[in-house]
Amino acid sequence: MNANEKMFEALGISSEVYSFGEKIIGDLRPRFLEIDERAERNQLKVIKAMQESRIDAECFNASSGYGYDDIGREKLEQVYAKTFHGEDALVRPQITCGTHALALALMSNLRPGDELLSPVGKPYDTLEEVIGIRPSKGSLKEYGVSYRQVDLLEDESFDYDGIRAAINEKTALVTIQRSKGYQTRHTFSVQEIGELISFIKKCKPDVKVMVDNCYGEFVEDIEPLDVGADMMVGSLIKNPGGGLAPIGGYIVGKKECVENAAYRLTSPGLGKEVGASLGLNRSFIQGFFMAPIVTSAALKSAIFAANIYERLGFPCVPTKDEDRHDIIQAITFGEADKLIAFCQGIQAGSPVDSYVAPEPWAMPGYDSDVIMAAGAFIQGSSIELSADGPLREPYAAYLQGGLTWPSAKLGILMSLQKLYEKKLVTIPEI
Ligand SMILES: *Cc1c(COP(=O)(O)O)cnc(C)c1O
Repeated sequence: MNANEKMFEALGISSEVYSFGEKIIGDLRPRFLEIDERAERNQLKVIKAMQESRIDAECFNASSGYGYDDIGREKLEQVYAKTFHGEDALVRPQITCGTHALALALMSNLRPGDELLSPVGKPYDTLEEVIGIRPSKGSLKEYGVSYRQVDLLEDESFDYDGIRAAINEKTALVTIQRSKGYQTRHTFSVQEIGELISFIKKCKPDVKVMVDNCYGEFVEDIEPLDVGADMMVGSLIKNPGGGLAPIGGYIVGKKECVENAAYRLTSPGLGKEVGASLGLNRSFIQGFFMAPIVTSAALKSAIFAANIYERLGFPCVPTKDEDRHDIIQAITFGEADKLIAFCQGIQAGSPVDSYVAPEPWAMPGYDSDVIMAAGAFIQGSSIELSADGPLREPYAAYLQGGLTWPSAKLGILMSLQKLYEKKLVTIPEI
């Protein structure tokens, strides 16, 4: 037994589980190298933006009250805009989460009488209430914004004829969700999103296109703004916060779109000029600096999990060999007890709250019970290794994150350990 295996054994990983994991990692070396090389390019992209924005120690000072002349906040937003190739950015702790950032981008860029179109099927669960697909107080629907949706075709390609027919004189904004979220469709590559945007702009040149970029940042060399999106939106407790941002969301893109969002977030007339950073600028800037490397650990974690669980007979999306366009790994367990054991293992391998066992629970914004494993430093942070799954057919777990590769490796091995101990799986010879 080598020194590394001894450490894993001390944390409760049996030799059967450990050696199965090691064989898989052996096969994954070339892919991990590719991920490291991309992370290097993205890391340099961020440093270039930081140097050009002349980030200095003064940026890390805290502002309070109105937050006028918060140079750190202004430079942080400049770094986001430069890195992602937007004209402007809004990156704020006052944006409480990803759903809030998306709601803000939508509500500020749509007016009564406008129509919102999703050409990629049903959006993320929490957006159903934002849009008013499920009745909800304060929804876009209540404010007179209508919604139309075109589903993907059987083979998960875009329904171009349906999209052309759905675009009308009211269509003002098109929302494209990059990541699969709680669905089992594939995640769109940035290139695919670009093809869809070109088609939409050909149908109606003045329509605005927003991309829900949650979980996508730094997974590829390009981002949605590079392929024609007017704005992209995400959460700072996912990829771009690098595990250090304790709260926040961002909107990057065309100046007009970002301005609209700023006037809605604070107030007409005030916009970006107010909003104290409360001492969070350093976490935001340092987190963004860390984000490409943290995202690379999360990618290795997803690929490792797919390679383990597919070999055990559980369908995985993406499959074990597929290219990645976000950090989410869906694993279909088919049975509630397997999904629960998996999530309990992820929790047990965590640096924080490892001694608690998660149970399924009703969560606000979700329409069925959900089990969530998250031994995280920041509540609900899903750039940290976490897993969740709605307790409904097909009992799929959505795994994401991992601040470091060794910690993610432990968590995933621990999930397998739990399934193995409960005799819910047999480990095959490979
Ligand atoms: C996480 C996520 C959201 C919502 O973000 P929250 O921070 O959970 O509110 C929206 N869309 C997608 C695709 C996501 O992954």
